[in-house]
Amino acid sequence: MWLTMVGYGAAKIPDMHEDNGYIEPFQMFDNVYYIGDKWVSSYAVTTSTGLIIIDTLEFPYSQWLPLNLKKLGLQGARVSHILVTHGHSDHVAGDSYLQELYAAEVTISEQGYALALQQAEQSRGEKKFRPPEVSSFVKDEMSLLIVNTRFKFYLTPGHTQGDMSIDFMARHRGQLYRVFVTGGHSANLQNKQLTKLFIASMSRIKTLSAESPVVTVNLANHPHKNHLFKSRTAINTNDLKNPFVDRENFLQFIEQQQAQALNKVQ
Ligand SMILES: [Zn+2]
Repeated sequence: MWLTMVGYGAAKIPDMHEDNGYIEPFQMFDNVYYIGDKWVSSYAVTTSTGLIIIDTLEFPYSQWLPLNLKKLGLQGARVSHILVTHGHSDHVAGDSYLQELYAAEVTISEQGYALALQQAEQSRGEKKFRPPEVSSFVKDEMSLLIVNTRFKFYLTPGHTQGDMSIDFMARHRGQLYRVFVTGGHSANLQNKQLTKLFIASMSRIKTLSAESPVVTVNLANHPHKNHLFKSRTAINTNDLKNPFVDRENFLQFIEQQQAQALNKVQ
């Protein structure tokens, strides 16, 4: 029973090796870092009062997150908030582990949390995790202002019922670029109602993304879905051009996601 589980202190940390899916963390913008693994994204956003982490990987791989922060020189910063795109274990399993380390506040949708509870209860062996503690649930179009960074949330169901997309600004050489994290990738094709919701969510995201300033940064929650690693060697914080600023990448991604779902319902 997960409720009786003690802390994560004794859990074994998987070797930080590419055979295990380990990827060296890297900086994407002045205020955004990639700290995820080969299959699942996790991002750290810096503010003057601490770090915001978006998604926390499958446990026990979540234990790489603080080690990655250290590699990036961010170990002194407290993780103040965790934003969760949806309740599948590969995005949520590290929440309670990071809460134990940093007492971070978790932002998730109500239905995302219901799924996280189920996933935690089903988790077994090395992958066993506890659900996070959540004080309030996100609603559609709600915002969270942390120092000077505003995160806006949209409920965009279709991969799961509780997908939460995140909209904020990244900074590079004094310029701001609008970022979008699509809450769930790939429609749930087993469930016709979710597939239809997914198609509608992708249309909504396309419309939202065209509002000024248009979305130019696609922070996918699975890095291979938008070839995120292709640009990681090209990043140079002194260069005016940032390879992650790519409107086409975002639009193609949304269109391809929507087309996949449309094929299924036709
Ligand atoms: Zn998922």
